[in-house]
Amino acid sequence: MSNTSADKKTGTRLVGAGRQPEWTGAVVNPPIWRASTHLYESCAALKAGTSSNEDGRFFYGRRGAPTQWALADALTMLEPGAFGTVLYPSGVAAISGALISVLKPGDVMLVSDNAYEPSRLMANGLFKRLGIETKFFDPLDLNAFTAMFCENTKAVLIESPGSLTMEVCDTPAIAAIARKHGAVSMIDNTWATPLAFPALRHGCDIAIMALTKHVGGHSDLMMGSVSAGERWYKRLRQTAQTLGHVVSPDDAALALRGIRTLEIRLQKQTNTALGIAKWLDARNDVAHVLCPMLPGSPTHETWARDFTGGCGLFSFVLKGRGAEARDRLIDALDLFGIGYSWGGFESLALPADPAPIRTAASWPPKDYDADDQCLIRLFIGLEDVDDLIADLARAFDAMDQT
Ligand SMILES: *Cc1c(COP(=O)(O)O)cnc(C)c1O
Repeated sequence: MSNTSADKKTGTRLVGAGRQPEWTGAVVNPPIWRASTHLYESCAALKAGTSSNEDGRFFYGRRGAPTQWALADALTMLEPGAFGTVLYPSGVAAISGALISVLKPGDVMLVSDNAYEPSRLMANGLFKRLGIETKFFDPLDLNAFTAMFCENTKAVLIESPGSLTMEVCDTPAIAAIARKHGAVSMIDNTWATPLAFPALRHGCDIAIMALTKHVGGHSDLMMGSVSAGERWYKRLRQTAQTLGHVVSPDDAALALRGIRTLEIRLQKQTNTALGIAKWLDARNDVAHVLCPMLPGSPTHETWARDFTGGCGLFSFVLKGRGAEARDRLIDALDLFGIGYSWGGFESLALPADPAPIRTAASWPPKDYDADDQCLIRLFIGLEDVDDLIADLARAFDAMDQT
């Protein structure tokens, strides 16, 4: 089924994705195949199985079974230009799995300064110990970026929009510059998913997602994925097998369930987030709204040029308030949970300070007033927009009551 629907529109593809008849049998969804041992009919069949390492062949639990294959197949179908998808036990494992598939000691990688903090820690810790050097770059300064390449630069990792500060970079240009210098371009595409930003079509070699977020969609699973064209897919798969990465069939089934409603969840969350971003933008106790979908917001033009959708994740900066006022605001919220992660059905608020984790593009930006630094990241879930705004309005009142 998934093979025949590749030319259809998104909603149709989301419904058909991964539902190959040999995996689903007579039911709608691929059943949950819980399996370590795969049994063989004979010693000869066992030997034949050992020597073949193709996708979709039974072998042993670590290479998955139809539930995981169906999820990987569905994700490949959602990413135009992908040959295959490898699943990982978390988004962070997907990032490390992609990097370690590409890099070797002596190599240099360039990482955008607004990358997810664990990606930075990985680069400065594990990869440094392995003899791989990382240079961080300002994702909005292409001249400085181009000047950073050296003979040993082998990979570029970007995130767009960036974590917390939400800058959308010129990914097609960055991918083209990387390619010209013989470096592999990788993008952490968790925010947009291929629905809003088909990364391989925009020139990236490797597209990474934390499935924990939008794809899972219900705050009840951890998983990551990496999709790529044939050359890199083969390397990624071999490396993941060597490292022993496997995901549980129960979680794969939950992620497949999440895929079916991905488009309508993202559309509703985008609309609600845009309504809230506009409301925040009109307040005089808000200095900056960092929401790529909002006209007038930084890098909105790049978003409008390259993206066909958004999501519920964005940030804003308070005007002239410190961390205590910010915490009072967040603590006063009823409908927003306080916690990490995002992409579920429920709204979240997070106090965050990008300053200590930026080294190339300083935070706050030079044009901000000195008193305007306190950032709140919101994730907008599936609640009603009027209820969320009323909750925020109450919390803003509580912020200044000391
Ligand atoms: C959450 C997140 C990750 C990591 O995903 P986990 O499943 O939590 O490990 C990676 N990148 C981005 C942009 C994220 O938001």
